Amino acid sequence: MKRFFSLCCVAVAAAMMLSCQSEHKGVKGVKHVVMIGLDGLAGNTVEAANMPTLKMMMAEGAWTLQARSILPSSSACNWASMYMGVGPEMHGYNTWGSRTPDFPSIELGENGIFPTMMTVLRRHNPEYNLCAFYEWPVIGDLIDNKAVTFHKNVPMGESKSVDIVNAYTAYLKEHKPDFAMCIFDSPDVEGHGQGWGSETYMSRLEVMDAYIAQIIEATKEAGMYDETLFMVVSDHGGIGTGHGSTSMSEMEAPLVFYGAGVKKGHQIQSSVVRYDTAPTIAYIFGAKTPDVWRGRPIVEAFE
Ligand SMILES: [Zn+2]
Repeated sequence: MKRFFSLCCVAVAAAMMLSCQSEHKGVKGVKHVVMIGLDGLAGNTVEAANMPTLKMMMAEGAWTLQARSILPSSSACNWASMYMGVGPEMHGYNTWGSRTPDFPSIELGENGIFPTMMTVLRRHNPEYNLCAFYEWPVIGDLIDNKAVTFHKNVPMGESKSVDIVNAYTAYLKEHKPDFAMCIFDSPDVEGHGQGWGSETYMSRLEVMDAYIAQIIEATKEAGMYDETLFMVVSDHGGIGTGHGSTSMSEMEAPLVFYGAGVKKGHQIQSSVVRYDTAPTIAYIFGAKTPDVWRGRPIVEAFE
């Protein structure tokens, strides 16, 4: 009987350990995720760039400058991979400007689009406030816009992104969203115009850095800063005045985590690809990921 009892104890302890492992409740201390996307930010331009805010986020956060794109190293197919946790061969968005799949997605979620992090966060919590602001209208077609609370296309226009920063920061302050993303067209625009690493490109990076600082400041004004995890992401780099091919200048881009729950001063050691982004966002919130996803969460970035 005594032996039976101790066997039972072992069984109960094992079951408890198993349930602890399977029930990841999300990264501790995080209530909000604020994701900032810079289209065409090449990993190899960051060191020389005058970007004090981004460098502070790296020094105080977890980062890699070598998050690798899917191929082609073009825009829509990489943004889609970031949001959808798989590459183009599965989601089907295969070109720079795909707004619908170029061939059928291998499966569809409840809103008729391959499941994105928005689909997954909505499933996880119907009450979440999920928002997306973007300068390029294509982004709105890639996020599962039926799953979000609010999304808005705010073109760069003559404001040179002041408009989108104002709209985004106003939304942060008013709604304190659970997940909020803002995707800029720069520095891709300047790369195509004057070249990756050109004077125009590098001076635009200074301006973009100031916008990142403004967004962080807005979370302080909203009283959500202490519980916010920030992410800076990009879709691809560039070389000369283009991208799309297989050089590391085109394929490698930064991925930076900063704030609540993030390790400090940690250079990410594991291999990171574009489609690890959505699984990482799901991990931060403790949301269940679809079986069809192939990326994996970058667990080492978090405390
Ligand atoms: Zn792009």
